[in-house]
Amino acid sequence: MREARTTCPYCGVGCGVLASIENGEIVDVQGDPEHPANFGRLCVKGSALHETLGSHGRLTRPRVDGVEVDWETALATVAERLTAVQATRGRQAVAAYLSGQLLTEDYYVANKLFKGFLGTPHLDTNSRLCMASAVAAHKRAFGADAVPCSYEDLEEAELVVLVGSNLAWNHPVLYQRLKVAKQRNPLLRVVVIDPRVTDTCEIADLYLGLKPGSDARLFTGLLAWMAKRNKLDRVYLEAHAQGFEEALAAAREQDASVEAIAADCDVDSERLETFFYWFASHLHVVTLFSQGVNQSTSGTDKGNAIINCHLAGGKIGLPGAGPFSITGQPNAMGGREVGGLANQLAAHMDYDTPGARDRVTRFWSTERLVPCLPDGPGHKAVALFEAIERGEVQALWIMATNPAVSLPRADRVRAALEKCPLVIVSECMADADLLAYADIVLPASSWSEKDGTVTNSERRISRQRGLLPPPGEARHDWWIVCEVAKRLGFGEAFDYTRPSEIFDEHARLSGFENEGESRRLFDISGLAGLDRAAYDALAPIQWPVNASAPHGTARLFTDGRFATPDGRARMLPVRPRPPAQALDDARPLRLNTGRIRDQWHTMTRTGRAPRLMNHRAEPFIEIAPEDAAELGVAEHTLARLNGAGGSYIGRVRVSRGQRRGEVFVPMHWSRHFSATAGMGALLEAHLDPVSGQPESKHGAVALEPLRVGWEATLLVADDLGVAQAAWCDESRYWARIPLGDCQRWQLAGGGVERPSSGVESACGGVKEKAERDWLAWLEAELPVAPTLWCTDPASGRLRAAGVDEAGRLRWWFMSGPPRELPNLAWLAARFGEAACGEGLAPPHRRRLLAGCDDGAANQGPVVCSCHQVGQRAILGAIREGDDSVEALGARLACGTQCGSCIPELKSLIEEERAHASAEPTEVTAVA
Ligand code: SF4
Repeated sequence: MREARTTCPYCGVGCGVLASIENGEIVDVQGDPEHPANFGRLCVKGSALHETLGSHGRLTRPRVDGVEVDWETALATVAERLTAVQATRGRQAVAAYLSGQLLTEDYYVANKLFKGFLGTPHLDTNSRLCMASAVAAHKRAFGADAVPCSYEDLEEAELVVLVGSNLAWNHPVLYQRLKVAKQRNPLLRVVVIDPRVTDTCEIADLYLGLKPGSDARLFTGLLAWMAKRNKLDRVYLEAHAQGFEEALAAAREQDASVEAIAADCDVDSERLETFFYWFASHLHVVTLFSQGVNQSTSGTDKGNAIINCHLAGGKIGLPGAGPFSITGQPNAMGGREVGGLANQLAAHMDYDTPGARDRVTRFWSTERLVPCLPDGPGHKAVALFEAIERGEVQALWIMATNPAVSLPRADRVRAALEKCPLVIVSECMADADLLAYADIVLPASSWSEKDGTVTNSERRISRQRGLLPPPGEARHDWWIVCEVAKRLGFGEAFDYTRPSEIFDEHARLSGFENEGESRRLFDISGLAGLDRAAYDALAPIQWPVNASAPHGTARLFTDGRFATPDGRARMLPVRPRPPAQALDDARPLRLNTGRIRDQWHTMTRTGRAPRLMNHRAEPFIEIAPEDAAELGVAEHTLARLNGAGGSYIGRVRVSRGQRRGEVFVPMHWSRHFSATAGMGALLEAHLDPVSGQPESKHGAVALEPLRVGWEATLLVADDLGVAQAAWCDESRYWARIPLGDCQRWQLAGGGVERPSSGVESACGGVKEKAERDWLAWLEAELPVAPTLWCTDPASGRLRAAGVDEAGRLRWWFMSGPPRELPNLAWLAARFGEAACGEGLAPPHRRRLLAGCDDGAANQGPVVCSCHQVGQRAILGAIREGDDSVEALGARLACGTQCGSCIPELKSLIEEERAHASAEPTEVTAVA
């Protein structure tokens, strides 16, 4: 067994990971105690990293036009077809769409190839959907895309303000650090500003449940309030900022009374004034903001409204002070560093940066091979797919992302991909639904195989190390790009043999002519010249890293000098605007979208770890109790949202943390997991005019109950070789939930669209005139006939199982809604026994129909993913007197590892206290 250091590939916290490797496999992962981002902690996603690995389900061979080919054929075909498109349609007819999942070295060579050598500016990244507004706000205010703070600033602050950030779910380790800091320092206050009551509210001293989209009004109001109450730092403003008067005048254009601001934001005025007072009266304030701010048509303005308040109070460049944008993805920052956004050129230089085009041309020596770099920015994400739709872009290379899920108007994105004459997809998973659009498929390496660097939200560059060889013929993205470049005739410029050489060039470019008036803040020239061993051993370090700061830089702007020509920060006049997606009678509900605790993006990786599927197994719709009652939907039933370009079906979760008139859906479900739960179809493609970031937090939708005639659950052994289409085609709703050795299919169908009469069934629909003959259906659909079955006389529910001649459980079935399911962990383990070759033990056969062992109580939904502790066990322990998180942890171990479930545990304790005699149901945490 050997141990190796690497970093987690999921969120922007960028935790260090210690991987234990044995016999060519990663058998365990732990948090790296020496990594400054996490000091040994991991959240549940990070803890399950080793459970997501393995060669099964991986892409291992290149494909051209649906036919497997060798690499030489694939690379030559890519080069030939890109050349042909450019020859006939011009340089700018080719484009690339990248991802914050790529490593910096992958990003660097892709950016260099497309902008430097193919001569097209159309290279953008899915980071556009995540933090482009924060980037734009940084540039406008600081003169550079520079995050001023470090994670330790959260621990050194007197006040931490979380805006549009469910830190507990989306950056769990950072949340844990803040929580511990608060426990150690009871004077540290936390304010949460978010339309939803999320688990993050567990540590909030003050919660402002503002109206979606009113953040800019709240912060311009704060600026006006600070001025009125004489809470400005006039000395700092005088010396280090410009534009204060204009910013204040804009803030005062609307009624600046607390009552008016509170009314506009729909928050309690006393609470609002408390926040204003706390913000203004503390110097060491960190305002941490995330997608709730960025994913808006005024996201850049919102970022600047926050930054304005920090500048006005001199709350920046100090320990525990500053505006702090947290990125969603592991290497969104690294992508920004190399120039991976369409409006960037390279190394934090834009097209309009004086001298930048000439400087980059000379550094890359592109003038000898192509006429020149593009002379202006390319299409940002949404505009890129519109250009494809118009036929202007004819070739698209997509790496490590699925725009057909995450972009608004996903229906149009799919249509554009279908229309695009050449779609090249670099991907590691064989079941990614984007592959359906690919003319050329290039199998890429994944986490544990990829080798390079990433930069987290605090500007910390860390090594993500290649620990295992890629399976089959999968290759690293940087290698694929360079091999294509060679076949395009640019071999000399892409003759790298390993990632360290690419990183060295990236570091040298960052320091190239980086002095005097051309000085750029992003400078890692201190890391240039690392040999292979030094690169391999590189310890986490925060940029800038140069001769002045050889050990990196924890905090920026400590001297009050910014990256603007005169060294002064810019305060922007901000005029609040409402969301562009307007509500009306047809679509009266405000749609919020986001991540859930245990999943990552489109679940291609996290979906491989069964325990990560337990927390929220199906796509869902969160809605306030009053709205649920008014719209006729109940907890656990199915409902449909109708939006701009399509619909979304999910299971209803009634939540008192949801504001009235608003619903929340998760972003993760692709067609591979459910055909009808892509949230991108619900959103209009309205963009921030500065950053080009889509307004993903402010959709407009209508909700209706999905009246189905039947529901059913089917578990099928993975090795039974049954295709999904058979039962998906006849279902109005389906969701696939991997459980290890079997797949759970949640199915619903029948009923009528809009019944004028009829009897509500137990599954929220209308009873079918005749009950389905499920046994006949099972016999027809599955290769192993039903061997055991029974019907509950009271409910009429059928349970059945298929056991083969060897005694192996092949499938299990229950008609009815999933809230009546027994313990699926026990059932799933029975499929595992078959996989172990031990045969299904006779006692288990007798208990199969019941779906649980005598000693295995039905756990209900899993609350603690780390220790797989279910809701019913927790409720049982609470009823026996465990009325604290600590007591539950001592008895059941829940909440004792990553801590992500602690808010939910607290919520269960509160619920149980309040409803001691009520039937337990799934609840959403309400702080
Ligand atoms: S907090 Fe983020 S980086 Fe850290 S382990 Fe969890 S997902 Fe990975």
